[in-house]
This record gives sequence, C-alpha cells and structure tokens, in this order.
Amino acid sequence: MVTKKRKILVPRPKSRFLLVVCPNCGRKQVVFSHATFPVRCHSCGTLLVRPTGGKAEILGKIEKVLG
Ligand SMILES: [Zn+2]
Repeated sequence: MVTKKRKILVPRPKSRFLLVVCPNCGRKQVVFSHATFPVRCHSCGTLLVRPTGGKAEILGKIEKVLG
C-alpha cells in the first residue's frame, strides 16, 4: 500500500483530513472534513462527503483522522 504525502495548507485549525471508507465498494479515500464541495468515491462514484456550509457531513465510515 502506497501512502501519498502532500503538503497542504490548512486554513482553519479545526479542519482535518479524514480517511473515509466507501460504504459501497470499500475503497479508502482521504477527504477534507470541511469540504465545500461534494466528494465522490474515485472508484464507484458514491457520494462520500456532503457540504453543509460548516463541517461537512461524512457519509462513509471514518477509518482514521489524519490530523
Ligand atoms: Zn466506492
């Protein structure tokens, strides 16, 4: 398993990156906890994150908080 590391500027201290498991196909994907746009599974297209205006609603299972 390859772990991708990227340098990303985090604008808000409460925002985090989450490792979310797709409920449909089980693929793991890193998503932003305060995403302002819908995030879909790269593999099957299932909606994983729904923006609410504040903290995004995570529709998949959160496996890990990446800080
Ligand atoms: Zn999927």
